[in-house]
Amino acid sequence: MASAMQRATDLVAKASSVVVLSGAGMSAESGVPTFRDAHTGLWERFAPEQLATEEAFRANPPMVWTWYVWRAMLVRSVHPNAGHEAIGRWQHHVAQQGGSLHVATQNVDDLHERGGAEDVLHLHGSLHAYRCLECDTPARFDPATTGITADQEFRPEDVVPTVDCQHCESGVLRPGVVWFGEMLPEQAFGAAVSALQEADLVVVIGSSGLVQPAASLPLVGRDAGAAVIEINPAMTPISDTADVYLPSTAAVALPEMLGKVL
Ligand code: NAD
Ligand code: ZN
Repeated sequence: MASAMQRATDLVAKASSVVVLSGAGMSAESGVPTFRDAHTGLWERFAPEQLATEEAFRANPPMVWTWYVWRAMLVRSVHPNAGHEAIGRWQHHVAQQGGSLHVATQNVDDLHERGGAEDVLHLHGSLHAYRCLECDTPARFDPATTGITADQEFRPEDVVPTVDCQHCESGVLRPGVVWFGEMLPEQAFGAAVSALQEADLVVVIGSSGLVQPAASLPLVGRDAGAAVIEINPAMTPISDTADVYLPSTAAVALPEMLGKVL
């Protein structure tokens, strides 16, 4: 029987309607820790899931605000990895052949875009967008103005003040991410579902498959007849049913899997 990688490259070679679904593991080799792998510093005391909620923000606005400022600065300081870059090139290649490749990510970083991908669907929003907690008006904010840098660990004693909304003047800015318990952006989620219903290949990378509703997206593709390839060093709830499971990392497996078509 052909190796898993051989079966993956065969699926890639004949695919013309592709959806790439990525999670935190996609950016791990760029130096952005995943939630489940982050067990240092602050994580010894706070589960990320307990900081990434509106309730947590309202309970301690400066601390949760500073955590996001720190994460935005961390993302700014790192680079897309070979996996992001391979996806960016693959998208152009598929388009040149008259097909389509959509990237739908749970990541709130911008590493897919910096790796060359276009029209990335951000299912969980962005670390680099801000809006008012109360009136929802979008706002500009440069996290570098806080003096927080990525080289320091995030420490609760470095907390910076929140920033007032200039529009309603009673609210403060919040990051443009989707917190636990919030609705996903309808447009991005709907576009991902539509693309999956048309897909002949779905590639799922670096997602634990535990955060709903994003975790159900691979099944939308599979139920519509797409083949599913999963890339993740650890098994997830979809590994057993994927057509090909590659127990490897994004920056290693993607360039290898796409090497022939790029
Ligand atoms: P997760 O943290 O729950 O799981 C990460 C998954 O990535 C795990 O299954 C792990 O085995 C896998 N992984 C680790 N290293 C990998 C590598 N090098 N290559 C491939 N896979 C690797 O992440 P999730 O499923 O995306 O869900 C958690 C939530 O955390 C999401 O809502 C996401 O928005 C948020 N988050 C985003 C970022 C980011 O934007 N970079 C970082 C941390 C968390
Ligand atoms: Zn406001």
